[in-house]
Amino acid sequence: MPAWPSTLRARLTLWYTVLLAVPLVAFAAASYLVVERTLERRTDVFISDALNAFARELFAERRASMSVVQAMQTAVTEVKFRDLNIAILDSTGRLVVMNATGGTAEELSTSRRPSADVEQRLLAIVRQQNLREPQALTVDGASEAFRILSRPLPVEQQRFTLTGAYSLSDIDAVLSQLRALFLVAIPGLLLVSAIGGSAMARRSLAPVSAMSRQAAVISATNMYERLPVGGGEELAGLARVVNGLLDRLEASFDQQRRFVTDASHELRTPTAVVRTEADVTLSREHRTEVEYRESVTVIQDAARRLTRIVDDLFLLSRADSGHLVMRREPLDLEELVQEATRAVRSVASERGVDIVLRDVVEAPLTGDTDLLGRLLLNLLDNAIKHSPRGGTVDVTMQLRGAQCDVRVGDTGPGIPPDALSRIFERFYRVDSARSRSETSATSGAGLGLAIARRIAEMHGGTVDVALSRPGRTEFVVSLPVGAQPAVRNRP
Ligand code: ADP
Repeated sequence: MPAWPSTLRARLTLWYTVLLAVPLVAFAAASYLVVERTLERRTDVFISDALNAFARELFAERRASMSVVQAMQTAVTEVKFRDLNIAILDSTGRLVVMNATGGTAEELSTSRRPSADVEQRLLAIVRQQNLREPQALTVDGASEAFRILSRPLPVEQQRFTLTGAYSLSDIDAVLSQLRALFLVAIPGLLLVSAIGGSAMARRSLAPVSAMSRQAAVISATNMYERLPVGGGEELAGLARVVNGLLDRLEASFDQQRRFVTDASHELRTPTAVVRTEADVTLSREHRTEVEYRESVTVIQDAARRLTRIVDDLFLLSRADSGHLVMRREPLDLEELVQEATRAVRSVASERGVDIVLRDVVEAPLTGDTDLLGRLLLNLLDNAIKHSPRGGTVDVTMQLRGAQCDVRVGDTGPGIPPDALSRIFERFYRVDSARSRSETSATSGAGLGLAIARRIAEMHGGTVDVALSRPGRTEFVVSLPVGAQPAVRNRP
């Protein structure tokens, strides 16, 4: 058995051809049957009319006072129809008269009269019928078929059978021509339609081939390329969906690339500091202890900075890949807020900044103590960093329905309006040139707010800038309290 074609084009062509072939063959068969039945009916009508004419002639001859047999013989020679044999049998089945077929002399020569043996067969069949009512049947001869119509012919108390046998060779020739026509025309039509269907399928599927060729050459190095959009709404829709996917992949690739570039850039400064400091210190043989101490302190600061950047990067990449396991334990947010403010108090006082904690409210929630602590510390760290000496950092808590807002405000210079939309981006810093050159543990790599937002999102909450102007900047963290928060591990 031939295998089911593997290509869509071949399948479409096959379906198309089969779907056309079925009604075409049904139509041809129905037409053939109708023509065949019609011709048969018309033949029967013709034979019947001829037998009527013969009977009329017979009775006319009879009225001319001939004997029955004489009248029959006269009528048989008078009434002639092309291709029709008329025979009369008596009630015992004996052949009384039989005509030759044909009309004019010329027609007679072309008329078909059954061969003697066929004639005998026809008569035998008529005899067998033992007619009471008119009957019609088709008898196949050796070379041609005959349509026979017989009817009872009562003539003065005697019962005869009047029979007409009509050669079907003309009709068979017409029917066989019709069959030949169908046999040639139907496969021809199907062939033409299969070729047309195949061409149409190739045309319709051309955009798919173009798309797959293009998709095959898109890789990480030419992510900007897109699939051609065209070939009808369905295929254009598919191309647009795939192009949308490529857009997202490209954006994600770009983000990853930027992340790696920025990360290596951030790591270069502290590593360069460590190496240069060590090189310079070791370049001279004898140094004082003070000099060594100064040098190691610089290296220690750079190492702290390195550790912090590496820790932050590690946390973000685990959060991105879904590998950051977040503990979900019941905790009190107010305790975390108090702990965080306590932890930064000494750094704040070193920088001459006052920390004020107000409106502490009970806020039980489910989450990760370490991560939430880190979120609060990042905000407090920024607030202290940007506050001028003598400034104040205030922390307030407020319950809002199922949310608890923690606000961290400072009296610093504020965030420039054009930077507001970007401060939560990774590695973004308002004054990057200044921050990068700093090597203190407090000068960040631009990851603090990105991490804070990620942690808030993981707890089903948000971090935003509530207000920022010179002299007042306020960040607000909103976290769901009470019930289990909607935890998200991925962005
Ligand atoms: P970093 O770790 O470098 O501080 P962040 O992601 O925490 O990076 O902050 C991004 C940028 O937002 C910083 O460069 C800083 O200029 C600005 N910023 C953050 N908090 C404050 C604040 N309280 N006042 C003014 N600017 C701030």
